[in-house]
Amino acid sequence: MHAPGVGPESAWGAPQPEQGRRLSFAKVRVLILLAVLLGVALKYGQVKLAESWTPDWERTEHVVVRLIVPGSLDSDEEELIGGLREYAFLGDEIASLDALRDWIKQEQRRFRPVGNSTPVGFDVQGPIAVSAMPPSPPRSGEELSFMQRYERTKAFLDYFHQIGEQNPSEAANSIYVLFYRPSEAPYLDKVHSVADRRSRSGFVFAPLNRHGIESAVINVGHELFHLFGATDKYEGQRCAFPTGYVAPFAEPRHPQEHAEVMAQGIPLGPGEKEGSLKSFDQMRVGVETAWEIGWIEQDRRDRYYAGDTSAGPKDE
Ligand SMILES: [Zn+2]
Repeated sequence: MHAPGVGPESAWGAPQPEQGRRLSFAKVRVLILLAVLLGVALKYGQVKLAESWTPDWERTEHVVVRLIVPGSLDSDEEELIGGLREYAFLGDEIASLDALRDWIKQEQRRFRPVGNSTPVGFDVQGPIAVSAMPPSPPRSGEELSFMQRYERTKAFLDYFHQIGEQNPSEAANSIYVLFYRPSEAPYLDKVHSVADRRSRSGFVFAPLNRHGIESAVINVGHELFHLFGATDKYEGQRCAFPTGYVAPFAEPRHPQEHAEVMAQGIPLGPGEKEGSLKSFDQMRVGVETAWEIGWIEQDRRDRYYAGDTSAGPKDE
């Protein structure tokens, strides 16, 4: 026997019809709220996961490179673009994606002598002609509110993702190489490239001229390493020390022979301008980058920067 009004039956166990409906509405509301919260948490988790993803290097990472060019080219530009696929991207010359693929393989072997023999595979699409240039992405140092930055980023990504949807690919990674006329999109002169790890997309901007076409391949390599988890290793115009140096423990320290892929300059001397990179033959992967993209374990990286150069890459 329970006292009336306080027993479990009267409060919860045997509710009146009206009360029951109210209770289940309350429960439904709580459930909806929980579902929304769970959804938000899952989304947040997914985004964080996507942003912290690095390849496992057991399988080949497939990359689609979409070449984008302005519509209505003049005859000189036609000629330049005509050679784009063969000479800059699929040819035997140094500045080609085939050579970049082999370079990545060779760099991986310096850190991991055994393993997958084809870490990265490229597929090329285009040239894809567009009638309008992309909106300017937000640049570092620009004074923007959170909403402005969000909207500018979204408009920028939407422009490229639309091109991606029109040119589908099975590859999990996309690099968009946009060739622009400096007169048409002067704001792109200041932006060498951008990466969005969430959508595993990288964006390279190259002026539509011979030099632009050659340097685009180097920037494709740099952006790809961003997608794999590497961070930039320069501070202003200088390469960061020690992580932006290929041989930070060399005696003497300057001049360095190579540029680190995420620093993109060759340190020549303390007071001197960093040497510029002409081909990715002069480029190497440093120990910090190798750790960030998952080629080596953290303890090997730590030993190296503590001064144990035997933990570094093995040069042939
Ligand atoms: Zn970068």
